[in-house]
Amino acid sequence: MRSAIRATFLHFIDQPDFAANTGYEYYGDGVMVINNGLIEAIGNASEILAHLDSSVTVDSSNVGKLIIPGLIDCHTHFPQIDIVAAYGEQLLDWLNNYTYPAEQRFGESGYGDAVAEKFLREGFRNGTTTAMVYCTVHPESVDAFFSASEKYNCRMIAGKVMMDRNAPEELCDTPEQGYEQSRSLIARWHGKGRLAYAVTPRFAPTSSSEQLTLAGRLLREFPDLYLQTHVSENLAEVAWVKELFPECDSYLQVYERHGLLGERTVLGHGIHLNDKELGLMAACGVSIAFCPTSNLFLGSGLLDVERCESAGVNVCLATDIGAGTSFSMLKTMRAAYEVSQLRGHSIPPLRAFYNATLGNARALKIDHYVGNFDAGKEADFIVLDTEATPLLRYRMGLCNNLQEKLFVMMYLGDDRMVASTHIMGKMVHSSTDNIERRN
Ligand SMILES: [Zn+2]
Repeated sequence: MRSAIRATFLHFIDQPDFAANTGYEYYGDGVMVINNGLIEAIGNASEILAHLDSSVTVDSSNVGKLIIPGLIDCHTHFPQIDIVAAYGEQLLDWLNNYTYPAEQRFGESGYGDAVAEKFLREGFRNGTTTAMVYCTVHPESVDAFFSASEKYNCRMIAGKVMMDRNAPEELCDTPEQGYEQSRSLIARWHGKGRLAYAVTPRFAPTSSSEQLTLAGRLLREFPDLYLQTHVSENLAEVAWVKELFPECDSYLQVYERHGLLGERTVLGHGIHLNDKELGLMAACGVSIAFCPTSNLFLGSGLLDVERCESAGVNVCLATDIGAGTSFSMLKTMRAAYEVSQLRGHSIPPLRAFYNATLGNARALKIDHYVGNFDAGKEADFIVLDTEATPLLRYRMGLCNNLQEKLFVMMYLGDDRMVASTHIMGKMVHSSTDNIERRN
């Protein structure tokens, strides 16, 4: 069950300090030893090979390529692969005109199975091995997503959307149904293999206070569950929440009052939060999922990452498919860089790669399993061909150091750069040997 792979390796051991050049390990000629799906050792090839049992085969087919941990997406909707790149409008119209009609199909038996498979494979093609995922209101959609994830043995967090008002009747549950259905999904999937459950009210406008109360009850009953929802994405949405919950001082307070804020809570967007709300988020240990391609696509606004971080709020990175326009975390890093530029701050490339790997693993509290190549962690990794296109090859040849190379990769790279994707040491995608056709 032991194997070894020789290539160039980069992973993070902490948040990188650009000036001090710390927080990461880089092996120009490295070897990683994998034992039974877990990382046994990583280091310079000369050192590892000197002590490696001669019976272990060393795969040298990736020499010249860069291996990094599998990319992690902290907020996405698997059913919305059906509406990615659907034209026009801002959040509330987009939900009514595209999202809700598309999600209604997931009530049909079998429909979600094929879409879940498509969604995971598209993630693998882009180097994403773990995600925090919204399903639809139908419990079948959660079964479909977790079944497909279990087949590939990938580490995934997901949950059934809870929604009991202000949405088409076909997509509404009741507070009791939302609670009971979530409870039986938790019993079926939470903690099974690499899967974990997230209680998932879509957002405050589509859940009554009664439903949010029951969501909070689930969190109290099962303290290791996650909570995912959206907050303060769009100004019309913020005004609507004020009307719906006049007793609350702010949007975030709606979630606080229902016991939904904690260290395992990830809130999508948070673009228009006020200082008091940011302070509350920091105090509760809640993370904001920054979804830059989605925020640009829906014209929602520009998240000020530096303002959030200065307030002590952890910011993680996410695609938000299908309002997000790309499965690629590389393209997402690029969009995050550009949004921050418009806010007057630059994100150093080392920091961007940290965010998409160890940083996101920490936000999801799974960094003891994945996020870097420390011994004992699960061997989820991707092989990057940094010369995948003529322009990449040319531009990489002109780089003088790692930071420059990483920046070129996040600017000129996309799914074409992902040569292969591996889950617990097992290849699930290869750009040359198209496994998709065999499955
Ligand atoms: Zn979303």
